[in-house]
Amino acid sequence: MGRDADDDAVGAVLARRLRALRAQRGWSLERAAQVTGVSKAMLGQIERGESSPTVATLWRIAGGFGLGLSDFLLDAPAPAATVVRAPRLRPAVDAMLVAPLFAFDPALGFELFEVTLLPGYTRLSEPHAAGVVEHVVVTAGALQVLLDDDWIALATGDAVRFAADRAHGYRNVSGADASFLNLIHYPTR
Ligand code: MN
Repeated sequence: MGRDADDDAVGAVLARRLRALRAQRGWSLERAAQVTGVSKAMLGQIERGESSPTVATLWRIAGGFGLGLSDFLLDAPAPAATVVRAPRLRPAVDAMLVAPLFAFDPALGFELFEVTLLPGYTRLSEPHAAGVVEHVVVTAGALQVLLDDDWIALATGDAVRFAADRAHGYRNVSGADASFLNLIHYPTR
């Protein structure tokens, strides 16, 4: 399925992106560690393509640089009016594939992913900033979304929207892959 075959390529992209972002900002590893809350050692490993970060770590790094996750995973934003055939990447150790479909665009205020949860996987997400709203549309299989301490069951075709400035999560308790579109909307500042 190529799930793990892409790992090296993803590691190389993460390494290149982190080095480039840090160079753009003129940040030392120490400064980047302070801003992102991710240790210098982990950041160094990612920059050398040696790490196995979690998705939570990638979110922290992206957030520290003021970016959405897709901006961090994509080398460059997709140009307008082209067909996007994003690879289903396994960007972290989590049993989860992520296709960054549309990177955050300030004029539009959202980023869009397709996420696939492998069987048995639970992802608990940290709260996003105030005003961030998530949309989940199940495109294959069945999954559950954690909202207000309740796991809500969603089948293929079901959709839910929720304020994401609180703990939330997604899990796949089925025996088959579960995929969903995840649109994250950021408030204008
Ligand atoms: Mn989230």
